[in-house]
Amino acid sequence: MMSNSLVDEREASTLYKHCCDIHKVPCVPDKLDDFIDTINAKLQLMFMQIRKGMSEVNGRQYYALVNMAETDITRMSSDYADNELELFRKTMDLIVSSENGKISSTDALNIADSLMTKRLKKSEAEQVLNRLVQDKWLNEKRGEFSLSTKCIIEMEPYIRRMYEDQVKLCHICHNIAFQSQICDSPTCGIKIHNPCVARYFKGRVEPRCPACDEFWPHEIPEVPRSISRR
Ligand SMILES: [Zn+2]
Ligand SMILES: [Zn+2]
Repeated sequence: MMSNSLVDEREASTLYKHCCDIHKVPCVPDKLDDFIDTINAKLQLMFMQIRKGMSEVNGRQYYALVNMAETDITRMSSDYADNELELFRKTMDLIVSSENGKISSTDALNIADSLMTKRLKKSEAEQVLNRLVQDKWLNEKRGEFSLSTKCIIEMEPYIRRMYEDQVKLCHICHNIAFQSQICDSPTCGIKIHNPCVARYFKGRVEPRCPACDEFWPHEIPEVPRSISRR
């Protein structure tokens, strides 16, 4: 867990089975979360925790070992200069305030001009953004940036604190939601992650908002294959 910043549910199950084999105890597959709770009770003393979170893209569950004493962006300061961290922080600001949890690379690069610490050239900003993708803090797909699963799991306490008024929870899974659909009804406006939308509305003839019962006007995505197989 310390060498892999993020493991998916299958890899976590393999690790669990490996531990059971070594200690010659029976491995009960659906007890993975109990096993992790037991580990977390011990890790608490070291301000660490194995946290579970869902990928907003494919709906799969992932586990990350999180240092609970440092969920702030500043803990990245050994890897990133001040102006690079400011670029990340401002990219995060834009992503959090965007409607669907994504911003264009042009918008991300334009931040370079408004940095207070030390300005970055566009080419330098591009390199920093690439590094943030490599280090799995950001996802990049078709020229758009979003927060990675690792970033959301590890920085959740920070994100909730920093963006208290902007962050909304998914109505279905109750985790913070960025890449999601929003109920159009002005008095409702609940958010649902795209994979949660797919699962919730699957097989329903007329999609209606689970909170206000208004017609759900968005395109319903396909259930990601990795989930539908289960
Ligand atoms: Zn959800
Ligand atoms: Zn609604």
